[in-house]
Amino acid sequence: MNRQCKCTSCSYVFDFEDRTVVKESHGFDDGFYETFSCCPNCGGDFEDAADCCECGEAFTESELYSDWCEKCLRETINYDTFFEYCEANKDEQYLDIFVMSELLGGMDCPKWISYDFHQLMIDTYKARVEAIKAAMTEEYRKCIDILPACIRFIMDDDGSIGRENYADWLNKREVK
Ligand SMILES: [Zn+2]
Ligand SMILES: [Zn+2]
Repeated sequence: MNRQCKCTSCSYVFDFEDRTVVKESHGFDDGFYETFSCCPNCGGDFEDAADCCECGEAFTESELYSDWCEKCLRETINYDTFFEYCEANKDEQYLDIFVMSELLGGMDCPKWISYDFHQLMIDTYKARVEAIKAAMTEEYRKCIDILPACIRFIMDDDGSIGRENYADWLNKREVK
């Protein structure tokens, strides 16, 4: 298989064989030289690249989260996948933390919660989703929408570890 590379400056994707190799003699004229590889398009640095499992575009290792690119990951998040993902991480209190901070005015989540408390969080989340779906006007819907907060909670709050965890969960979810 060809070794696929992507430029970190101009995003150009190319085969490793097609890289530009530069010989640098550092002013020595006795035949000594070092070689450097760079992007054939702009001369920048490049990294190994792989394809996103969803859109098929090439990304560098640091741009992929368990085979998913950031854009495709974000697009998988909706009210249902968010709820399912949170419930899969019940022990980490994902849903409780989210509902307390986003829906109940920014309160901290208690460390120890009861079954009833968790159920109340589920009901609060579901009631909000129902209200969003039933909103009469687009303007009102936007006012009460929580999807941007759901996406931020998964994609941004825990940095790349959060994205990695979510992508892992998605990959396992799809095989079942
Ligand atoms: Zn380049
Ligand atoms: Zn993608």
